[in-house]
Amino acid sequence: MTDCLFCKIVAGDIEPDTVLETDNVLAFRDINPQAPTHVLVIPKRHIESINALTAEDAALVGELYLAARAVAEKEGIAESGYRTVMNCGEGAGQTVFHIHLHVLGGRALSWPPG
Ligand code: C5P
Repeated sequence: MTDCLFCKIVAGDIEPDTVLETDNVLAFRDINPQAPTHVLVIPKRHIESINALTAEDAALVGELYLAARAVAEKEGIAESGYRTVMNCGEGAGQTVFHIHLHVLGGRALSWPPG
């Protein structure tokens, strides 16, 4: 999608602070970090939200979580604990409509989220 911010990042039009990249997935630092580690893991293929996922995306969603695990290990937060969040829809706080898994860690995280 030409007007999608994260598609522009994937295309190389905007340069992210990349943490990890595979054939299908890109992980980069959030521009407005909410924790010492705040990385976004995105599929390179445009998918608007969780609501747009199909059964054919199952393996790709698995890759997002495997990348999140790798990011946590790389950032040194795998043992201390971290949170993965994927907001779906404006009511849940989704602002970029290209699915992304937030990986947050490096500080104590409270529950429930706001
Ligand atoms: O879940 P949500 O859609 O709100 O998350 C979008 C995230 O994308 C935000 O945490 C925001 O800081 C991040 N972002 C970014 N780089 C941009 C624009 C937004 O990392 N250029």
